[in-house]
Amino acid sequence: MAEKYEQMWKNLGMDLERHGQLLNGLGQYYGSAVMSQKNRPKKMDYFDFVVSEVHGLRIKELNDLRAQGKKVIGAFCIYAPEELVYAADSTMVGLCGGADFSVPDAEAVLPRNLCPLIKSFYGFKINRTCPYFQSSDLVVGETTCDGKKKVYELLNELVPTYVLEVPHKPDTKQGKEFWFNELQAFKAKIEEVTGNQITPQKLKQAIELINAKRAALKRLSDLRAASPSPISGLDGLLINQISFMDDVKRFTAKVNELCDELDQRRNDGVGVASKDAPRLMISGSPMAVPNWKVHTIAESVGATVVVEESCVGTRYFTDPVEPKGESLNDLIWAIDEKYSKIPCACFTPNDRRIDSIKQLAKQFNIDGVIYYTLQNCHDYNVEGVKVERALKAQGLPMLKIETDYATGDSEQIKTRIQAFLEIIQGKQ
Ligand code: SF4
Ligand code: SF4
Repeated sequence: MAEKYEQMWKNLGMDLERHGQLLNGLGQYYGSAVMSQKNRPKKMDYFDFVVSEVHGLRIKELNDLRAQGKKVIGAFCIYAPEELVYAADSTMVGLCGGADFSVPDAEAVLPRNLCPLIKSFYGFKINRTCPYFQSSDLVVGETTCDGKKKVYELLNELVPTYVLEVPHKPDTKQGKEFWFNELQAFKAKIEEVTGNQITPQKLKQAIELINAKRAALKRLSDLRAASPSPISGLDGLLINQISFMDDVKRFTAKVNELCDELDQRRNDGVGVASKDAPRLMISGSPMAVPNWKVHTIAESVGATVVVEESCVGTRYFTDPVEPKGESLNDLIWAIDEKYSKIPCACFTPNDRRIDSIKQLAKQFNIDGVIYYTLQNCHDYNVEGVKVERALKAQGLPMLKIETDYATGDSEQIKTRIQAFLEIIQGKQ
C-alpha cells in the first residue's frame, strides 16, 4: 500500500517515516488479534479489506470528495450530530484515539495523568500520522468531559476546531432547549464551512441515511444475543469501530449482508465460541480503533463477548431519530430528542444508562459484566459504583478493569479475567 499512496500522504502533510512505523505495527496487531480468530463469518472479508485500506483507499475517497468541493468533518464523540453534516453534502469521520503509538507524543505537551483516548487523539494530530485528521476541514469537539474540553483549545491551534456545548442535564426542559439552540448554531457553522444550505428535504434524507446505518448495527447486535453467538465479540467491536470511518451507504449494505450470513449461522446453530462459554457484556468508556485489548484477552481465555454497552456499541445505535413533522424545526427537535437519550456518564443523573445495562443483561443472557474504564476517566469510573450496585441486585458479577492502551498490564488483566470466569462457571 505504501508506494501507491505515498504522494497522497505527502500532500496531506504527513510524517511518512512515523506513519510507516504505525502501519507496520497496526498490520502486525491486526494479524495476531483479528485474523488469527477461527471460524469467522465469510462476510468479514469486506471489513478486513476496509482495515487493510483504512489509510489508503478510504483516504483517497475522502480526498476525491474534497477535490469536488465537499468537506470532511472530523469528530470524537457520538454527540456530534452527523445528520447535520450529511445534510450539507459533507462527510463525517471518527478521529480515532485508540492507539498507544501516539501517546508519548501527546505526553510531551499534555499532563500524563489524562485519559489515554485524549492523549492518543492529540498525539495523532501533533505527530501527523493520522490521514483522517489531515483530511479534516473542520473538527467538531464537545464539552462532554473536562479533559477533552481543554484539549480542544490546544487542538484549535493546529486545526479549526468547533466546540459544541452539550447540556449536562439533557433530560430537563432547559437542557433540551439549550441543546436545540446549540444544534441550530452547529447547523449555521456547517452551512458556513460547506457553503451549502441545509434544507428540510436534505436533512430528512440524511436522517434516513444514518437511521439505516444505526438499524443495521442494531440488527448485528441483536444477532449476537443467540447462543452460541454467530460472531466473535472482537469482530462485533471491529465493525462498530469501522462504522465511524467507512462510506455510510456502502457500510450499511455490507453490515446487512453480514447479518444475512449470521442469520443463517444462527439458524444452523453455528457459533464462534462453544455454547457453554461464559457470556460477557463489556460496559464503560468507549473503545476507539485499534483498541481491541480487553476483547482479545477475554475471548482468548474462553469467554464470549456478546454486547458492548459503549459509544462504540449500543449507545450509538439504540435509538433512531424519529421526526414528528417535516419542517426544519421538527427535524432538529427530533435530533435533539435522540441525542438527549445517549446515556453518557458525563451527564447527571444518568439512570437511563443503568436501566439500559439491566435490560441488555437480560436480552443477551449475560453471565457477567466487565466494567471497562480508561485510566483517569472519572465519569465512567465513578458511575461504575452505581452500575455495580444495580448488577449486584440482579445477582450478576462485575469485574472492574481500569487500564490504558499499553500492553504492560495484559497478563495481569488475563489472570483477573480467568479468575472472574471461574467465579461465573462456579455459579452456572
Ligand atoms: S462516552 Fe460520552 S463523551 Fe465519550 S463518545 Fe460517548 S457520548 Fe461522547
Ligand atoms: S473516556 Fe472518559 S475521560 Fe476519556 S474522553 Fe471519554 S469521557 Fe473523557
